[in-house]
Amino acid sequence: MLDIQDVQAAYGAAPALWGVSLRVDAGELVCVVGPNGAGKSTLINVIAGLHRARAGRIMVDGQDVTQLAPHRFCGRGVAIVPEGRRLFTGMTVQENLELGSFLPGPKAARARTLEQVLALFPALRQKLGQPAGSLSGGQQQMVAIGRALMSQPKLLLLDEPSLGLAPAVVLDMFEAIRSINAGGTSVLLVEQNVAMAMELARRAYVMEEGRIVAEGIASELMHRP
Ligand code: ADP
Ligand code: ADP
Repeated sequence: MLDIQDVQAAYGAAPALWGVSLRVDAGELVCVVGPNGAGKSTLINVIAGLHRARAGRIMVDGQDVTQLAPHRFCGRGVAIVPEGRRLFTGMTVQENLELGSFLPGPKAARARTLEQVLALFPALRQKLGQPAGSLSGGQQQMVAIGRALMSQPKLLLLDEPSLGLAPAVVLDMFEAIRSINAGGTSVLLVEQNVAMAMELARRAYVMEEGRIVAEGIASELMHRP
């Protein structure tokens, strides 16, 4: 589903990724953990096409998307839930969700996808007409994930979905991610919440200073000395 080889990225003269290789197989849930500043967000943004790679190759579902302009990237089956949610807080929940459905196609298909999102997050149904900014943090994260799902991605990129959420809400969030993955969507999850991410993911990568320093089966990585 995702195969990236030796990807390098920088901000001006400052390197942020030194040559990262990683893969997510179809249907897999993979997590990336590591300290602040390790390059996790940069990696997610490069895969999403929001930040250009300086070198390396990014394949999504068998297609080389490395040099694809961001506007061409839409509709290739990748959706991002950015760190901090980035909702349009003055727009309604429904408007925020519909922003995610940039796919061409009949209105009925989009309505069906909206129903799927509401089935996953039933609490949003009665909030559809409210400004997104009036919702709790957990509900706003549901909107951010729902918005990404509206494009029916094959690969979902999640950047710190549990950030700033109450512990009880975090459990719900991880359960929702598990169920999205069980529905067949491949997931690449960046998390500070290492224990929970490692429990959710089958495979994991550990990043430090712009490099992958460990990879393997999540449960085995957790018990390595
Ligand atoms: P993270 O939790 O992923 O480390 P940060 O809080 O470091 O995120 O970054 C938040 C925002 O600030 C992001 O949009 C990131 O791109 C930007 N940012 C981070 N570090 C710098 C920097 N040194 N200079 C400019 N912008 C930065
Ligand atoms: P993480 O997500 O693991 O916290 P980031 O990808 O946010 O790491 O950051 C990797 C490195 O790139 C850090 O040194 C950070 O300060 C830097 N960085 C991130 N965003 C920017 C930005 N917009 N401008 C300049 N430097 C940035």
